[in-house]
Amino acid sequence: MKLVVIGTGYVGLVTGACLAETGHHVVCVDIDREKIEALKKGVIPIYEPGLEEILVRNVAKQRLQFTTDLASAIPAAEILMIAVGTPPNEDGSADLSHVLGVAESIGKQLNGYKIIVNKSTVPIGTGDLVYEKIKSLTTHDFDVVSNPEFLKEGDAVNDFMKPDRIVVGASNDRAEAMMRHLYAPFQRTGHRLIVMDVRSAEMTKYAANAMLATKISFMNELANLCETVGADITSVRYGIGSDTRIGQQFLFPGVGYGGSCFPKDVSALNRIATAAKKPLRILNAVEEANSRQRLRLVEKVVEHFGEDLTGRTFALWGLAFKPRTDDMREAPSIYTTNELIKRGAKVRGYDPAAMKEAKRVLGEKVALFDDSYGLLDGADALLIMTEWQEFRDPDFERVKQHLKTPVIFDGRNLFEPAEMKAMGFEYFCIGRK
Ligand code: NAD
Repeated sequence: MKLVVIGTGYVGLVTGACLAETGHHVVCVDIDREKIEALKKGVIPIYEPGLEEILVRNVAKQRLQFTTDLASAIPAAEILMIAVGTPPNEDGSADLSHVLGVAESIGKQLNGYKIIVNKSTVPIGTGDLVYEKIKSLTTHDFDVVSNPEFLKEGDAVNDFMKPDRIVVGASNDRAEAMMRHLYAPFQRTGHRLIVMDVRSAEMTKYAANAMLATKISFMNELANLCETVGADITSVRYGIGSDTRIGQQFLFPGVGYGGSCFPKDVSALNRIATAAKKPLRILNAVEEANSRQRLRLVEKVVEHFGEDLTGRTFALWGLAFKPRTDDMREAPSIYTTNELIKRGAKVRGYDPAAMKEAKRVLGEKVALFDDSYGLLDGADALLIMTEWQEFRDPDFERVKQHLKTPVIFDGRNLFEPAEMKAMGFEYFCIGRK
């Protein structure tokens, strides 16, 4: 099939590359000239394991192209996929200006029947808005389909190529048939396509992220309680996770959820519910718990070093919001850095993939080091913010030699408290004795 993917970010680029990999012809469009120029030269603007290989292969086979010119890409396409950002407005609702802007461009250029697939995460009813916008600008026939994306940054290629499920919201058989054809190569190992109406598909995406965020906030609050009542959240996690109704995944306490999706999607769903006069009280609590949890490690630092951190230096391992990505949107490291600086401390940082993003997002606030041990030199403590694999088994003797005092605040529970104590560290983690 001939496809156009509009928006070449984490979702659009992975979608375009993976669909090209299965034989479709894909044109990826973005308004960001720099990004498109880089991609044309084979330079990938994001860190996403496995993506480069697929991209290079499909560009070479001429199944994948990049352009900033949407108007010229539209006429030949059978399916147009919208994968632009839906960032939060100031009130927490989703900003639909990019999605509707694309709909307008499509409406102006439509030259025959096409399917417009919305992959961006959007409020319930956006499919209708997109339809109306295009309809007001064309006499050609078209359908709008919702196909929310569930990939996880850091494992996005794998998620796309071997999806747990593909949700399609379609309003008629013709659109459904085309979507089934598009995704046929991803269905070899089972019936992964779940077809429903457009609004239910839009809601499914928000519901999934809200459920996952709820799991995280619940575990975080439970972990904080464990500290006070003398229980250990790791044991509790195993204990409840072995119940198949609960499951082991997403039960890890830490320093709060971040990233480009959970915070904005929980917030957007909350605003939708409030506007509909059906408030989701549980999500208010999830958001509140997360705002507090993002500063949990600083609370522990203050308990140990006192309120005034003037003259102290803290070394952060991990700046991205999670491992295997360079994405720093809403990363807990940002909140931690700001709070430490507010209290007079100096902050140093290292991340295996997000150094460029860290420079852009944090600027001069953090002294960036490209060596994970170098930044410990003379620091008062090490703070672990992201559970990158390379932090799981460090050379503890080296860590101790570099730090001014052997103190570790571990926001990801990477180590065993008893072993850390035996090695001579003061070790503070989340919800463990
Ligand atoms: P992103 O910010 O990485 O990329 C969006 C891209 O769209 C940018 O490159 C931007 O320049 C481009 N763009 C904006 N307006 C445009 C226009 N008019 N024409 C062409 N390009 C335009 O965003 P993302 O993380 O890829 O997310 C995209 C959508 O997918 C969002 O709605 C997000 O919530 C959703 N989503 C994201 C993830 C994720 O893990 N990042 C997962 C699932 C769903």
